Amino acid sequence: MVTTHSGTIPSSTTLYTHTQELIKEALNTLGYSEHMYDLLKEPLRTMIVRIPVRMDDGKTKMFTGYRAQHNDAVGPTKGGIRFHPDVTIEEVNTLSLWMTLKCGLVNLPYGGGKGGIVCDPRQMSLGELERLSRGYVQAISQIVGPTKDIPAPDVYTNAQVMAWMMDEYSRIREFDSPGFITGKPLELGGSLGRESATAQGVVVAVEEALQLKNMSWDQSKVIIQGFGNAGSYLAKLLYDKGASIVGISDVLGGIYDEQGLPVYEIAEQRDSFGMVTNRFENTISNEELLEQKCDILIPAAVSNQITYANAHRIQAKIVAEAANGPTTFEATKILHSRDILLVPDVLASAGGVTVSYFEWVQNNQGYYWALDEIETRLNHKLRNAFRSVYHMAQEKEIDMRTAAYIVGIRRIAAASEFRGWV
Ligand code: GLU
Repeated sequence: MVTTHSGTIPSSTTLYTHTQELIKEALNTLGYSEHMYDLLKEPLRTMIVRIPVRMDDGKTKMFTGYRAQHNDAVGPTKGGIRFHPDVTIEEVNTLSLWMTLKCGLVNLPYGGGKGGIVCDPRQMSLGELERLSRGYVQAISQIVGPTKDIPAPDVYTNAQVMAWMMDEYSRIREFDSPGFITGKPLELGGSLGRESATAQGVVVAVEEALQLKNMSWDQSKVIIQGFGNAGSYLAKLLYDKGASIVGISDVLGGIYDEQGLPVYEIAEQRDSFGMVTNRFENTISNEELLEQKCDILIPAAVSNQITYANAHRIQAKIVAEAANGPTTFEATKILHSRDILLVPDVLASAGGVTVSYFEWVQNNQGYYWALDEIETRLNHKLRNAFRSVYHMAQEKEIDMRTAAYIVGIRRIAAASEFRGWV
């Protein structure tokens, strides 16, 4: 546990333990034995690599990276790579478990994977980032590939990083391998709609939640925490739907205006790391922002934001998690008991990996779809996933996160059994 001014927040080890407990509960509900839990409680493999990178000053610096592959009973593993100073092996392992749940919820033929490199990309030049990206691919090339494990963008990685990684992998294998990685630039086999996909998926999930709560877009005030890829697209998409975006934030702080914010103008001022509030006066802290008046709260930044310490003060009727792990497991129970509809991360943020899957399918077949085809398929998958989770929650009288774990783990457990792994 780490104590901060916002209260006691769980460490990545705690997050890992809580995820495992919920997986255990889900498997119990589905009638599986302890052996199934033993198989699925941690990744089948996690590779730890150390990457020497020549820095601009001529000196070599060592970086540590990880690639976790939770389970490949259903098909290859899939999941993003994050560049962040706080990356740990527990975090990457936990995120790989969550990717299994996401893929299960939207019914993709993948298990979960995740990668991370301990680094601070904000302090590195483009050249250093390119050498680090290529070095990472060299280090993990034996365990990844279009039919083994398919990476994608995550926190502080983008289409450019994917392009370097795809190029490096293609060089090593000596053939063009667009299906090795998703989230690529369009010119290199990327998919239309991939960049806005996570946000688009959140919109579908919130739309379903609004219907359940008898609410409408034009009467909804929204707070979005985080202005990275998901957050900035979300602000614009929800504004277009007629919602009023009353609060946004980046790592430095937030801006709040009950009358609504001009999100398009704000988005134009955003830098590539999602920083924007440094251009504004009268900012408030991220902690304060979460507790302001709104109908829909969307944490779209980092984990452990809604905790035991502030869950009682959240004013929203719907909380939709666009980030991975923004609400602790304790806080989930509090929100549920307060009748706040929580759309859990593994469901709300599954749009990204869904369009990644479409990208991979297009790469494999060498034929590319129009945007409306992608959006129709995405909407369909997300809506179905939402409804399955909601029905499970109603049927078992449980919170939406527990329900999502049950629906999300079903296919991989059944596939593992068919393969004779349990
Ligand atoms: N990093 C994203 C996620 O956490 C996308 C993963 C992918 O597209 O494979 O869902």
